[in-house]
Amino acid sequence: SGIGKVDGYTLFVKDALIGDTAEVKVIKTKKHYGYGRLMRIITPSPDRVEAPCPHARSCGGCQIQHLSYERQLAFKENKVRNLLSRVGHVEDYVMHPIIGMEHPYYYRNKAQFPVGLGKDGQIVTGFYAGRTHQIISCRNCAIADPASQLIIDTVLDFMKQYGIRAYDETTGKGIVRHILIRSGKSTGQIMVCLVINGTRLPHKEELIEVLREANPQIVSICININDKNTNVILGRETKAIYGQDYIEDCIGSLRYRISAQSFYQVNPIQTKKLYDKALEYADLHEDETVWDLYCGIGTISLFLSQKADKVYGVEIVEQAVKNARENAALNEISNVEFFAGAAEEVVPAKYRESGGTLRSDVVVLDPPRKGCDEKLLQTVIQMEPKRIVYVSCDPATLARDLKYFGENGYVLKRICPCDMFGHSYHVETVCLLSKRSIMSM
Ligand code: SAH
Repeated sequence: SGIGKVDGYTLFVKDALIGDTAEVKVIKTKKHYGYGRLMRIITPSPDRVEAPCPHARSCGGCQIQHLSYERQLAFKENKVRNLLSRVGHVEDYVMHPIIGMEHPYYYRNKAQFPVGLGKDGQIVTGFYAGRTHQIISCRNCAIADPASQLIIDTVLDFMKQYGIRAYDETTGKGIVRHILIRSGKSTGQIMVCLVINGTRLPHKEELIEVLREANPQIVSICININDKNTNVILGRETKAIYGQDYIEDCIGSLRYRISAQSFYQVNPIQTKKLYDKALEYADLHEDETVWDLYCGIGTISLFLSQKADKVYGVEIVEQAVKNARENAALNEISNVEFFAGAAEEVVPAKYRESGGTLRSDVVVLDPPRKGCDEKLLQTVIQMEPKRIVYVSCDPATLARDLKYFGENGYVLKRICPCDMFGHSYHVETVCLLSKRSIMSM
């Protein structure tokens, strides 16, 4: 939100920018601050641009499309710096300039379109309006793969033709909940996965036929079964109904196999730059061991294995661990080993089993937004790594975890934000910590 002042009183206003003078409707007030709705811009901020997507304001996906891309980058850099100092209490580190995108549109390799009923009773797909479950009909998202449009049209036409109903969250009835589309930007391979309420999709042969006709790059058509009344998009089980249950993509010289349930970075061009930075920070030597925690399908593990003696990966999603092992084989890499389970359980257990002798030269952490569990941080410190490379998608939890490391003998050396999610307020950051040397002055 933009933060504005009226006679000294603070108002938080969604979609307002620093430098705007605006007419705002006050919608909620508290003693020291309130919330307002942006009604009209009187004088626009010099950083304001016309958002290319007509849905930018109502959709929950892009919060800052109306801010010039250059200023978006500056905003993200600042956000990281502020959190590090306010929450992390860290100073005296080197911050490399944020790595921005050259083309900040149509960059995503994954989109999950909710399917539901519009006001007129027609099937709609698009995006949830910010903080709600109301679907805004949108077929040409400015950050999704342009190939998605024809694919969702094809699925909707198929549903209409065969009377297949959209899932209704309020009644729990209907079949199709989400359309997940994943593309391998460097291989061109596409996966279409229909998340369905139930175990069977009627007329699936017809769906396969129309989808393949619409886009011959579709190599995988899956159904994912989710019959729970939940906001979680994917259910536990995914079955291929055409082709394989995965697609492949390359980052640098490595090839990765990705299934519907596995995590894979959404912006492959920026991912290469991010991993290169992680590799640079890890500064590996050939005799060194690495633990890559929260390793997903082994992307970073395999990237680092080329420079290390041995890499161990830990990941909670079993399907992703299976992919990680397949990816090692696919790339003929043998100095990696993967464990399935929660990092905060697996790593302390391995440490205990070793009788407290488990050590690692480098530890890589790449947790989800909530950051690392303290039990894991404790064990990492006991493993006495020389260097820790922390890759984070939420600078607030990163700052919290850095504070913990700071109190336990590690210093932040270098940090580099990377824009993986242009037009959203999210920012990815990679940083290097090293063990505080007793000799250092
Ligand atoms: N390093 C990978 C994945 C990072 S995303 C990459 O760059 O592609 C974070 C990963 O952590 C996801 O794969 C998620 O499934 C996994 N995860 C979430 N909680 C976990 C936990 N408690 N222990 C281990 N892995 C976890």
